[in-house]
Amino acid sequence: MSEDQKKYMRAAIALAKEGMLAGNGGPFGCVIVKDGQIVGQGCNSVLATNDPTAHAEVVAIRDACKNLNHFQLEGCEVYTSCEPCPMCLGAIFWARPAKVYYACTKEDAAEAGFDDDFIYQEIEVSPADRQIPMVSMMREESQKAFELWKEKGDKKLY
Ligand SMILES: [Zn+2]
Repeated sequence: MSEDQKKYMRAAIALAKEGMLAGNGGPFGCVIVKDGQIVGQGCNSVLATNDPTAHAEVVAIRDACKNLNHFQLEGCEVYTSCEPCPMCLGAIFWARPAKVYYACTKEDAAEAGFDDDFIYQEIEVSPADRQIPMVSMMREESQKAFELWKEKGDKKLY
């Protein structure tokens, strides 16, 4: 790892500590770097914003996309103080950065009381059998939105 990369990870770890000590949420921080510049950052803000999706990576992705005025993070690197949870992993794949660096592992997070293993297990379970049952309804009516999308001439693919 280069000194610059260590600097970015230290910034993510500092955000983790600062955010947690300020009562924003759990001890997680993230910075997003493009061309040697930090273009987005965030700490876990679940408690401060009453937003269960405000994990450090999601907050940082939103910040970076806003600053870059783009819906994707092409050519960006994500530095996160901990291995992403399944939600953030999904958000990262949707945002499409070039690479992710993480410090702590999900095992370290589990040891601190942040165990996301049950979500990985739930992905394997059929929707109706999940701990939060997921029930399909009105499929045909909703498929009309897809039909409109397929026909939409000026759509922006992402
Ligand atoms: Zn997460």
